Amino acid sequence: MTEYAEVIVDLSSEQVDRLFTYRVPEGMRLTPGQRVEVPFRTKSLEGFVIDIRDKTELDEKVIRPVLRVLEDYPAVLPELIELAQWMKKRYHCNLVDGLRQMIPAQMRGGRVREKTVDMAALLVKGEALEAAMAANARAPKRQEVLRLLAEGPKPVPFLNSVAPGAAKKLAEMGLIGITESGVRRTPYAALEGGLAPDPELMPAQKAAVERIGAALENGGGRFLLHGVTGSGKTEVYIRVIRQALASGRGAIILVPEISLTPQMVDWFRRRFGGDAAVLHSRLSAGERFDEWRRIRSGEAKVVIGARSAVFAPLERIGVVIVDEEHESSYISDKRPRYDAREVARWRADRHGAALILGSATPSIATYMRAMPGVKPVNRLELIEMNERVKGRALPEVQVVDMRDELVRGNKSIFSAALMSAMQETLDAGRQAILFINRRGYSTFVSCRACGYVERCNQCDVSMTYHQADGMLHCHYCGDMRLPPKLCPQCGSRFIKYFGTGTQKVEEEVRSLFPQAKTLRMDVDTTGAKDAHETILSAFRRGEAQVLVGTQMIAKGLDFPNVTLVGVVAADLSLHVPDYRSVERTFQLITQVAGRAGRAEYPGKVILQTYDPEHYGIELAAKQDYRAFYFKEVTMRRRGLYPPFTVLARLLVSSKSEETARAAALDLEARFNELLDSRPDWRRDVVQMRALEAPLKTLRGEARWQVFIKMYARPSADEVISQMEALERLEFEGARVELEVNPNAML
Ligand code: ADP
Ligand code: ZN
Ligand code: ZN
Repeated sequence: MTEYAEVIVDLSSEQVDRLFTYRVPEGMRLTPGQRVEVPFRTKSLEGFVIDIRDKTELDEKVIRPVLRVLEDYPAVLPELIELAQWMKKRYHCNLVDGLRQMIPAQMRGGRVREKTVDMAALLVKGEALEAAMAANARAPKRQEVLRLLAEGPKPVPFLNSVAPGAAKKLAEMGLIGITESGVRRTPYAALEGGLAPDPELMPAQKAAVERIGAALENGGGRFLLHGVTGSGKTEVYIRVIRQALASGRGAIILVPEISLTPQMVDWFRRRFGGDAAVLHSRLSAGERFDEWRRIRSGEAKVVIGARSAVFAPLERIGVVIVDEEHESSYISDKRPRYDAREVARWRADRHGAALILGSATPSIATYMRAMPGVKPVNRLELIEMNERVKGRALPEVQVVDMRDELVRGNKSIFSAALMSAMQETLDAGRQAILFINRRGYSTFVSCRACGYVERCNQCDVSMTYHQADGMLHCHYCGDMRLPPKLCPQCGSRFIKYFGTGTQKVEEEVRSLFPQAKTLRMDVDTTGAKDAHETILSAFRRGEAQVLVGTQMIAKGLDFPNVTLVGVVAADLSLHVPDYRSVERTFQLITQVAGRAGRAEYPGKVILQTYDPEHYGIELAAKQDYRAFYFKEVTMRRRGLYPPFTVLARLLVSSKSEETARAAALDLEARFNELLDSRPDWRRDVVQMRALEAPLKTLRGEARWQVFIKMYARPSADEVISQMEALERLEFEGARVELEVNPNAML
């Protein structure tokens, strides 16, 4: 009987976002989820088998056969095919955009495959082996190879390093056999000292593990684990995962950006050994593929990774964990624009698993779901851990008003308080972290006489001076050029470098504390493959006393010897034109403050600010999350911001500003027509209009937008579907892109 395969071709386009039918040739066996090569128009394409049928309505004669099977196993599990279907609806993408997330990118196009090595093994034993030894009496190298092989099979390259050519010779003599065998590329060196034991849990940890564990055994549950910095959330995750493993199920744990959390990976490897697989962007294609295969084959049951690890091919899941759930990196900024927290929830629901969102500073939207009065479908159970482990104190926070410093004649970027605290810390042989929410030496270059600012020719932003190469850089398009000696506008020689960056802070530390060694961690120093790990482990080993860095150092790092954290300019991120700027500032300060005093020695935090009365700064200094939440929710409700509303836009870009504008106005008009036809939608729209995007030009293209703000009601979803249709309209010379609640609307 002939079988037919329903295939999604690996081509992301609206036009081919449907199933194509192919005949399964005689002798070929296929199951859904397998990848195949199929003829398509005049070419051949890779594709995903979605379904197998034994009949078709199509004309037999026009159906072409599957050309080839790409892997002998289904690369995409049935559950993950369904997930891709859900993503298509939820994130307005093509089915193939979802399916592509389910496999390592390099598998497509056959750019990665299993690595093999020649293994040698003895073909003789006992007396025959002794005879062989004797026969090679005058070839001691060959004898050595035989002796090594008597212990067990060995890779040929290893044998060749001992005795070049000996293995080949012995194979020719029929004494050993050589076979090809698959090997795994492991991204991390072997563990030294074996697995670490489980510590005894603190009472709050124990209570958390018990509650989540009960849910795991009883069909699942969704939790928000709100624990202050240093409360030991990781240990809770580990114990819940153990429980999942004990019942034969696996676990996924997502971390914001894995290169920033090497410690987390280290902990997991020390506790779970080979059961743990690590997926992250800095792995080589081969390493990534091999880790993925270990998961797919069921060998590794604990998966730790960044956003995309949520698609790990585990067949049975007991718990899905999203650590630092407030991080914006969980929302993909590329197609498909998915939110990993939502996907995590989908998978947990599907497996009857527990879902844990963990953070010391949950996002406002998440925390709201753990408050009373939320509909059961959205509800999160709140678990709080309000104290640090072993009764360690939260760091003492001192707010310094920088305006007073200026009055007192201190023009340095360090307040008197921060300077003396630095001195004390260094004298005591401890370490300090200086945090600055920016990179580069100065933010921008401007003329003191006329106010002229150097801007990028391609993008509507000011250029940034980098001291390392003495050039001006555009942080959007990467363009660079030499800074001007004279003002291009008025000819003045007084060109000033404004702002404070990590480099400047580092220099200032060097001149004030020449005896201290410093390390700097920002985008400029972390370009190389293992740069993060190198800098962090040097700091951990005490090779430097001061670490200067950007938000990169705010994440879950645990340095026992750090007793001082200086936030050089706490309000820098407060004035970003985004409704989340206060929330982000609060999170950053709390997180970075949380790096101090995590071991026996108490910690101190100095917060330098020009805006000490701002509620974001004040409540971060008090480390009072709940008070901040209630204040911020009031502000959002009053200002009609998410989560009370949904923000979206159709972004139009074009080489010509006139074309972009015309397209945006056209879209606005169509939108208005649509709303006129649906008064119920119109009622829920707070605001809708066409206007220039805040970033007017990017990479030489003009940008306009149709911006919309709607109440967060069911109608919002319907309106967004309509916007999708508008997104698909073709405008000569212009591109239209839909963004819903994006991380930033520039
Ligand atoms: P969080 O993620 O909540 O900020 P961590 O999970 O990083 O906190 O834990 C803080 C520190 O406390 C870590 O050094 C961790 O090893 C340690 N720790 C956690 N739980 C225990 C425990 N039960 N006993 C001893 N030390 C613990
Ligand atoms: Zn000038
Ligand atoms: Zn640019």
